[in-house]
Amino acid sequence: MSYCPNCGKATHSQYLDGRDRLVCPDTECGFIAWNNPIPVVAVIVETPAGVVLAHHVSWPDKKKYSIITGFLEAGEDPKEAACRETREELGLIPESPTLIGVYPFARANQVIIAYHLHAHGDILLNEELDACKVVPRNKMKAWPFGTGLAVADWLAELSQSGSATSDHGQ
Ligand SMILES: [Zn+2]
Repeated sequence: MSYCPNCGKATHSQYLDGRDRLVCPDTECGFIAWNNPIPVVAVIVETPAGVVLAHHVSWPDKKKYSIITGFLEAGEDPKEAACRETREELGLIPESPTLIGVYPFARANQVIIAYHLHAHGDILLNEELDACKVVPRNKMKAWPFGTGLAVADWLAELSQSGSATSDHGQ
């Protein structure tokens, strides 16, 4: 943010509340870019055949697949956002979302609020996604950052409860 979004003056870096922030030089304007993380909802969508992983159209790596993610609408309950993203991005009917946990994702300056839910119907990808695959829960592998932390916790919970290979929820 090189220019103040309030008054258009060039911002400069200043040490404030323990960190360097971009601030507006105009003391009357007083704008400070706090750069607070944005909350994002992530959803482990599990159909009777397995967990749906999708490739986003903007990802150059064609082999990269992830669980579903999306931004919250203003005033929206994160749990409802998880259901909405499932309907919008995959065309599936979601049911009984449960919170897995909340995770930092510093690289993207986000905080991930992760849910698991069961879903049914026929997958119909929206324009944000161009490929998907369905992975049985006992074949799921986590990745060590971002939404992968939620997948790891979900898998750990499954193995503790002994339901890693069961067809729970069908
Ligand atoms: Zn300003």
